[in-house]
Amino acid sequence: MTRMNPISVAPAALQSVPPQPAVQPGSHVMNTYANLPVHLARGEGVWLWDEDGRKYLDGLAGIAVNTLGHGHPRLVAAIADQAAKLIHSSNVYKVRLQETLADKLAALSGMDKVFFCNSGLEANEAALKIARKYGHDRGIAHPEIVVYDNAFHGRSIATLSATGNVKVQKGFEPLVPGFVRVPMNDIGALEQVAVERPGVVAVFLEAIQGEGGITPARVEYLKAIRALCDQQGWLLMIDEVQCGIGRTGKWFAHQWAGIQPDVMPLAKGLAGGVPIGAVVAKGAAAEVFGPGNHGTTFGGNPLACRAALETLSVIEDEHLLANAEHVGQTIRSVFSRELSSVAGVLDIRGRGLMLGIELACPCAEIPKRALQYSADYGLLVNVTQDRVVRLLPPLVMNDGEATMLAEGVVALVREFLAQKAEPKAA
Ligand SMILES: *Cc1c(COP(=O)(O)O)cnc(C)c1O
Repeated sequence: MTRMNPISVAPAALQSVPPQPAVQPGSHVMNTYANLPVHLARGEGVWLWDEDGRKYLDGLAGIAVNTLGHGHPRLVAAIADQAAKLIHSSNVYKVRLQETLADKLAALSGMDKVFFCNSGLEANEAALKIARKYGHDRGIAHPEIVVYDNAFHGRSIATLSATGNVKVQKGFEPLVPGFVRVPMNDIGALEQVAVERPGVVAVFLEAIQGEGGITPARVEYLKAIRALCDQQGWLLMIDEVQCGIGRTGKWFAHQWAGIQPDVMPLAKGLAGGVPIGAVVAKGAAAEVFGPGNHGTTFGGNPLACRAALETLSVIEDEHLLANAEHVGQTIRSVFSRELSSVAGVLDIRGRGLMLGIELACPCAEIPKRALQYSADYGLLVNVTQDRVVRLLPPLVMNDGEATMLAEGVVALVREFLAQKAEPKAA
């Protein structure tokens, strides 16, 4: 047998490499999002423009991220100023802006300590680690955490295991063990867990499920879990990644129930669009981590912390909590007036600027149709759980813009349902 010698390859073969097909711009981005065919290029307030100059009214805020809308002069100036001074230093050293932001979050929540990271799932990972170590510190070798049907906590292996959606989990098994799942707003189910599962150390839920279809934990339910957690020595961990930072008209959605969690992950809206995550903790939960237990390279860097501090201070100066509540009411009253008696509309729910309209049938095409809403402008809206039209507008939206958005959504929903109802052409 002769061995293939690379030198024996005919030089002619090297020259006859077939021409490569033209590469589609963007084709090297991994295919993880079924995204809409629009490239947004710039924004101002609650308006965005795409690369072709078409205008859109923002009813989504980048999924509850752009708290102050787009191009807010104070946020832009703060980010530019901080970028010129210091973007990143490292948690090897003390970070002044991190200390200031932790003080601010402690003051707003009435809680004690903060760990900073870069996203929602990271904040939730930190919460899960706090819960497990809290258990181990109490001699529980196999700590378990109660999670919920339809919950969404992120897409890392641990947070997708905590998530209550098989579509998010499928293909990524084996799931992380140590979770016990219960239905939302059913205190009996949780009392049952208390009887049957001695290893439980924490209850972990969203105050309002976002990806789960804008499903609120009821005020009485939150109060009841707080009492049960106190009685059992469990940590109450409330994921405020989507519903927190003023969106519902209070700083944190659980505050409507007059309770406090032990652990509260935050992210999306906290720095107005600059990536950040934070887990806020209280009492014993705040003392679980020591040096070496947790860490991150980027977390709590000066740029992100400065953006968060400016975002929080604009929320205060521009009274955006009251605005979110008021403008949310404006949108809701349009929906109740125009949609509550429409066949095919099952429910209108949410609080402040976190609103959902549940339809009887899947409506995934509404966001695409919304882009073409009128000749003058499109609408940015979203659908979650296949059947829930979701609105998460920037907190700076005013009444007039809110009415435009609400009337647009009403028209889209009515038109969509009317077409669904039409008998199919023979
Ligand atoms: C978006 C979201 C997350 C995950 O946040 P990422 O920044 O995408 O990792 C976690 N929990 C809730 C409630 C969310 O809405």
